[in-house]
Amino acid sequence: MRFLKGIYLAVAILLLTIGVGLYADLRSESMHVQHLRIQLGLERMVRLNQSLTSSITLAVVEKNSLRAASYDTLQSELEATMQEVQALTQGMTLAGEILSLRDQQHGLRSFEKQAFEQIRAQRWDAAFQALLGGDYVMMLKLYEINSESAVGALSIELANSAQQQNQLRQATLVLRLLAVVLLLWVGWRYSRRLQAELAEQMRLQSEISESKNALEATVLQRTAELQVANQQLETLSTTDALTGLANRRSFDTHWAEEWQRSLRQATPLAVIMLDVDHFKAYNDHYGHPQGDACLQRVGEILRSCIRRAGELAARYGGEEFVVILPGATPQQALETAYSILGAIRAARIPHVDSPTADIVTLSLGVAAASLHATGQREQLLNTADLALYQAKHQGRNRVVLIDLDEPDTAVAIDPQNAQVSAK
Ligand code: GH3
Ligand code: MG
Ligand code: MG
Repeated sequence: MRFLKGIYLAVAILLLTIGVGLYADLRSESMHVQHLRIQLGLERMVRLNQSLTSSITLAVVEKNSLRAASYDTLQSELEATMQEVQALTQGMTLAGEILSLRDQQHGLRSFEKQAFEQIRAQRWDAAFQALLGGDYVMMLKLYEINSESAVGALSIELANSAQQQNQLRQATLVLRLLAVVLLLWVGWRYSRRLQAELAEQMRLQSEISESKNALEATVLQRTAELQVANQQLETLSTTDALTGLANRRSFDTHWAEEWQRSLRQATPLAVIMLDVDHFKAYNDHYGHPQGDACLQRVGEILRSCIRRAGELAARYGGEEFVVILPGATPQQALETAYSILGAIRAARIPHVDSPTADIVTLSLGVAAASLHATGQREQLLNTADLALYQAKHQGRNRVVLIDLDEPDTAVAIDPQNAQVSAK
């Protein structure tokens, strides 16, 4: 708003000075014309006065009244000129001088009037005396001097008014310059302010974009952290905390998926249920923490025996584990079960209270099916459980296979030499 006020002020000054300048020019022009007219009037007055004086003087000197024939005409012309000059000088310092000129003029005329009376009476000597013997000549001289001084005063007045006009012009010029300087100053301040505002805007913009970037980076970081946390949560929710194997929940999901896949692809599917033999006695003898360590060892062994893609070992519950073997034939499933049994034996984990052996042993029930399309998912799992029960029942530390394609034939591994044999 301050800038607008400055601009308004500068424009107002400019307009005012232009107006004053125009007025001064016009006034100077009219004054010049007026002075010229006054000067001409004054010169004419002097000339007409001289004509009047010389006409009557000639009439007296030559004793010829005809010489003054044009007197009246000249006099009325002089009177008119005098009035014109008087009107033109009204209000001027010159007006006083013109008034005294008029008085002197009237004085001259009264002398001339007396001379005319003598001329009409043909008294030429008296007429001569009236004109040249009295104050007439003196008054005439004074009139001429006063006329010249009036012309001089007029010139001075003209010079004074010209000087005033010049001063006025100079003042308006200075004011115009001031207005231009004010405009330039306002423009400069305004551009400075615009620049400052622009810089502030750019700073704000960059601040906004910086905080936007920071926000985006934070969001990205938080998203990544969330993904990691979700992954950890997913892992936690699908992993058994003690053994690191898949938990029961994860097993259920995989089991359903693998079942569906083998149905779709018509591929065989096998499952092993296994249980630590006499584990209660192990706990009782070695303590629960040692029991935990034993279960962890079993978990490691299971992991090392599961190598093919899609195979999964899970903790089924307590000291019971389960292994899914997608695409495995009964023979291949049996071989995997055998490798697990062999590995636990090779680990030779002492178990002094076991009635079966002096080391930790496992019982494994294997259920396999190649034509299971019409069967139930639970049936295969129950069959594995049944095979496990049979393995326990037959003396533990062994594998029992039930092939659902030949459900009447159970196959067991000889606990001593680990040979596969039909039962
Ligand atoms: P069997 O040969 O018939 O399987 O006999 P068992 O003693 O192994 O079977 P039982 O079901 O009688 O006992 C299982 C024991 O396993 C009982 C339980 O305390 C123990 N157990 C279950 N889960 C855990 C665990 O997470 N840690 C420990 N240390 N022991 C467990
Ligand atoms: Mg057991
Ligand atoms: Mg058990």
